[in-house]
Amino acid sequence: MKIEILEKNDISLRIVVREADVPLMNALRRIALAEVPTMAIEEVVMIENSSILQDEIIAHRLGLTPLKTDLNSYNLPEECECKSEFGCPQCRVTLTLDAEAKEGTKTVYSGEIVSENPDVIPVSDKIPIIKLAKNQKLKLEAYARLGRGKTHAKWQPTSVCAYKYFPQITTPTEKCEDCTKCVDVCPKKVLSIKDAKVDIRDLLACNLCMDCVEACPKKPSPLKIDWEKNAFIMSIESTGALPPERILKEATKTLGKQLEEIEELLKAEEVEAQ
Ligand SMILES: [Zn+2]
Repeated sequence: MKIEILEKNDISLRIVVREADVPLMNALRRIALAEVPTMAIEEVVMIENSSILQDEIIAHRLGLTPLKTDLNSYNLPEECECKSEFGCPQCRVTLTLDAEAKEGTKTVYSGEIVSENPDVIPVSDKIPIIKLAKNQKLKLEAYARLGRGKTHAKWQPTSVCAYKYFPQITTPTEKCEDCTKCVDVCPKKVLSIKDAKVDIRDLLACNLCMDCVEACPKKPSPLKIDWEKNAFIMSIESTGALPPERILKEATKTLGKQLEEIEELLKAEEVEAQ
């Protein structure tokens, strides 16, 4: 298998994976979405809430606020040695919020949430939590824990996790007649005209929609769109909880663990059968 990085920054990663197949790509996609753990607020204790929003709505908004996750220092609650419903410092982070609108209406942003661990804080401090009118107060304590996207979307580490086939475009060898229909129709602006011939401007942008082939007045069209059977472009966009390459690494680790588990079970069955 070969991997080539097309684009990488703090929150997104785009790679080309060659010599892979659909089941593998889909397994990685699903694990990255649903099984890589992240931190999210799970419990909220309201100390004072004189705002117009009910406690449940505020708790829901806090739960969906993405938190930076420190995967190395915390355990999943079900795997933690404490086995406690309330959690321990190894499986729980306490966050507090104490806001009051002293001088007129005030919007409380995620930046006002104070965490006991400076590595586990909201990914952005500009997420509005609530709007308070003058003299209204909101005071609460919240507990964040690791969890998985398959339990609740708040634990999903990715906002985008998708793959597509690697496109292959064959442009007409001859000069086209006075027509730029294929170039004009493409929503991704993949094609361009160079010396009166159709040229590929941005191959990787092609999403195989075939609009260009349909728009061609010649039937069959000399323009051919195809895809490589064993090459894929994978895009991962993180919510900010984990770096995108870490999400992919954790996904491959989880897949490996699941396969090992199956192998162990098969071995146990064999021993029993003997
Ligand atoms: Zn614990």
